Amino acid sequence: MNRAYSRELSADTCSIIIPLISAITFIASLLMAILWLQSRTVWHLWALAAVSPLVAYTAVQLIRRDRIESGATLFISAHVGLLLLLIYQEWQPGSSLPYLFAVLIITGSMMRHPQASLIIWGVSSILTAVVIGLSQETFSAAYIYHLIAPTIVNFLLAVFAFLSAYEWRFAVESVSMLHGKARRRRDELFEMQQELSAINASLKALNRALDDARARAVQERDLRTRFMTSVSHELRTPLNSIVNFAHILAQGVRGPVTEEQADYLQRIEQAGWHLLAVLNDLLDMAQIEAGEFKLHLEPTNLHTICEEAIASTQGMLLERPVKLERIYPQTWPLVHADRMRIKQALINLLGNAVKYTEEGQISLHVQPNGRWVNISVIDTGIGIAAEHHERIFQEFTQVDENVARRRIGAGLGLPITRHLVERHGGQITVESAPGEGSTFTIKLPVWSKGGAETAVSFLPDTAQ
Ligand code: ADP
Repeated sequence: MNRAYSRELSADTCSIIIPLISAITFIASLLMAILWLQSRTVWHLWALAAVSPLVAYTAVQLIRRDRIESGATLFISAHVGLLLLLIYQEWQPGSSLPYLFAVLIITGSMMRHPQASLIIWGVSSILTAVVIGLSQETFSAAYIYHLIAPTIVNFLLAVFAFLSAYEWRFAVESVSMLHGKARRRRDELFEMQQELSAINASLKALNRALDDARARAVQERDLRTRFMTSVSHELRTPLNSIVNFAHILAQGVRGPVTEEQADYLQRIEQAGWHLLAVLNDLLDMAQIEAGEFKLHLEPTNLHTICEEAIASTQGMLLERPVKLERIYPQTWPLVHADRMRIKQALINLLGNAVKYTEEGQISLHVQPNGRWVNISVIDTGIGIAAEHHERIFQEFTQVDENVARRRIGAGLGLPITRHLVERHGGQITVESAPGEGSTFTIKLPVWSKGGAETAVSFLPDTAQ
């Protein structure tokens, strides 16, 4: 049993019952004293009216000072005494005054402990018999007969009060257990709430740090983009002049040049073209990063784009023993595309195939496949190891530095190509192994008007 809880309950019960009993005693004895004032002795009633409130006040003060047991005992014993005084003065055979002990018997077990009812019954019964014996001048056995009924009734009430108080204790016990559990749960919840607030605070701090980092990253990206754009623009004009003048000089238009000088001028021109290509890639990349890369989409004839890309590539092959082959379908689907950008993607792939293939062949294979069309660039060049298949699509990545240094490129071609293809709703994949050539495949969605695919018929398969 939770003692503190039980004491708290006893204190609450006492603070209700004590003033109530005392008030009733005070009013009843005062009224009786006033009524009987003329006819008989009433000093004991005055005593009752005066002592009962005094005792009640003292008992309540004790209880307030946490001396609950003393307060309750004082009140009960004082009122047993007052009742005995009343019996001494007023008892007649047949009087119902001894029944009044029932009040103290019942409330006693509530204010103290369950056994208190039986103790009060026992003490009050004995003392009543003694007091009646003392109050009567001659003792008669009939008096005992008159006491039997109230003694039995009071006993039954005492037993009933005892059992009820016990039951009440059990109820209080389970309530106090529940109360304890609820308090523990509340404490746990409070702790959890505090932990949650702490986590919340650190999350907020983390969010702020993330926002700061994001803002810094955006700032840095913008700075890089601005730098790339302005450097590319600044370099393009002088580079164009270098390329053009080198070309003119190499032709011997402005005066004769030796073979060696012509060779040097051609190299200057080639390097210039390379630099211009790199600048174009840098500009594209800057636009992509700034989110300013715009596409002009329209239903587009893929065949024309493929032919134009092949024509641009042919010039790059020079004297190399590499065969350029087309594998085309009979029916070409239309694609919803920006023709310049798709051509740029194809030229990037074909250009890489040329760069990394010394001999053998390069094929452009176009194959419609339901709602998609696959465009593959297949070469028999140096190939790429599987661990580099993802890396090559990252900016400024060149797998083999030694090979790359000898060839044109800045490691931007594939990232730009991937971006172009994905912006068209397509995908780019690579299949390759060192020494076994490479196959880069662009998968583009077929253009459909109102859901129906559109196709254009062309010449039969052309292979070269
Ligand atoms: P680069 O301008 O250097 O060619 P890319 O982004 O186009 O840059 O290609 C990145 C890298 O991928 C190249 O440096 C090369 O190592 C590899 N690569 C691309 N295409 C091929 C290919 N057809 N055969 C072998 N390696 C390739």
